[in-house]
Amino acid sequence: MANDHVDVLIVGAGISGIGAAHHLLADRPGTTFTILECQEGYGGTWRTHTYPGVRSDSDLYTFGYSFKPWTGAPIATAEEILTYLGEVIEEDGLDEHIRYQHQIDTAIWSTEDRRWTLTGTRTDTGEAFTVSAGFLWMCQGYYRHTEGYTPEWDGMDDFAGEIVHPQTWPDDLDYADKRVVVIGSGATAATLIPAMAPDCAHVTMLQRSPTYFATGRNANELADQLRDLEVPDEWTHEIVRRQVLKTQALVTSMSAEHPELVKEELFKGIKAILGDDYDLSPHFTPAYRPWQQRIAFVPNGDLFEGIKSGKASVVTDTIDRFVPEGIRLASGEVLEADLIITATGFEMSVLGDITFTIDDEPLDFAQTVGYRGTMFTGVPNMAWVFGYFRASWTLRADLIADFVCRLLDHMDELGAGIVVPQLREQDADMGLLPWVDPEDFNPGYLMRALHLMPKQGTKEPWRFTQDYWAEKDEFPAADLDDGALRYR
Ligand SMILES: Cc1cc2nc3c(=O)[nH]c(=O)nc-3n(C[C@H](O)[C@H](O)[C@H](O)COP(=O)(O)OP(=O)(O)OC[C@H]3O[C@@H](n4cnc5c(N)ncnc54)[C@H](O)[C@@H]3O)c2cc1C
Repeated sequence: MANDHVDVLIVGAGISGIGAAHHLLADRPGTTFTILECQEGYGGTWRTHTYPGVRSDSDLYTFGYSFKPWTGAPIATAEEILTYLGEVIEEDGLDEHIRYQHQIDTAIWSTEDRRWTLTGTRTDTGEAFTVSAGFLWMCQGYYRHTEGYTPEWDGMDDFAGEIVHPQTWPDDLDYADKRVVVIGSGATAATLIPAMAPDCAHVTMLQRSPTYFATGRNANELADQLRDLEVPDEWTHEIVRRQVLKTQALVTSMSAEHPELVKEELFKGIKAILGDDYDLSPHFTPAYRPWQQRIAFVPNGDLFEGIKSGKASVVTDTIDRFVPEGIRLASGEVLEADLIITATGFEMSVLGDITFTIDDEPLDFAQTVGYRGTMFTGVPNMAWVFGYFRASWTLRADLIADFVCRLLDHMDELGAGIVVPQLREQDADMGLLPWVDPEDFNPGYLMRALHLMPKQGTKEPWRFTQDYWAEKDEFPAADLDDGALRYR
């Protein structure tokens, strides 16, 4: 390592880590920092996922940074997002701060030394490395990048064809003229199916239960109008961000207050493609209300165009077992396949699978309480960027970045080397809740790992509301001297 001690160590060179570095350069120009990233390049999610058609499901006006205008279509391909991130790296000269192929394995905090010591392995040479830092900015995302989640089904070994998880898509996978079954109906399945349909013999989406889909043009009329008027990109970006956020807020409150109305609107979009007589009840009518899980956006209705063309179809049933020729369903039907894609989700990774020790005590993350969903009781000098599920992840990454820079400024003013969240006397009888309310948001990957996650409290500043509209005011106004953060 060029520097073996830095003021701030950023874990991960995905959209959060690159954003964190930008904020440090802009807001704290004297701060030394390094980004450690285990992969060969930047991008995180957008580098890991290479399956056909991989794209964002939120618009890039809000998934993009506040500080860098987005100028393309709202829904972007992974390649376009990587280009955008590459531009930030180049414009900010971040290359010299990023160390690729550095896998962090342990993080050890010493109160006496007022620093974190991180050890890890270089994935290119196998060499061990050590680096220390005053503050740890965890931008490692929320899921394991090396493998996706595939349930164990009986008979998987009997299947004569190939089984592939979209997260580890083989470069040379040939699906031309094959019969493909995609298990799952989330955003990944909705992306893969229209991208594969033209080339394979047929593709079936096999779902246990339906998902809500929103259809619409991959365009933003307001952005197009503003561009037509030659409004500067910075203005267009800000105006369209505000428009998108306002619309999302409306959809979220409508989903809670008038779920039936929102359902009807979503269904209208599907029927516009499949026809009014198409029966939506078995395949496209979820049991939960809209927004309890992320609504998958289908740009230009491409998934439904695939179904209309006859090249794609949907089956809603449970898997009994895999058989040599495909999948036998609970109904007894056998779905024949040459290739099975398991679009069954992620393995949650808590703190990047790094083993944390604090003053010789192993950290049990599940025993901590989150401070504003970003710092944790008893864990000094550390912030984790955990974004929004429904709104774009990056909106929260930006808010946290401003907050961390303000906190570091405040520590400088106080001459403090340590900040650690701690419950106050008045918090003693506060109730504790799961990190995310399962009633409110409950995707499988989160539910499988909820017991490993920190708790949230029932009052400020210990709540984690996942509410951008509240947090956009709360983070900047957070009282850093309310006793919940202790300085030394
Ligand atoms: C296919 C797909 C589409 C998505 N689309 C959207 C969307 O449209 N809108 C939205 O808001 N969200 C979306 N998400 C969620 C998405 O993951 C986040 O929005 C965002 O990209 C996360 O960025 P990040 O930088 O926080 O984490 P990541 O992208 O996960 O990057 C974390 C980085 O940290 C590195 N890392 C992890 N552990 C270690 C370690 N121990 N040592 C060194 N390096 C480490 C990883 O290699 C990785 O590069 C999508 C997710 C997927 C999988």
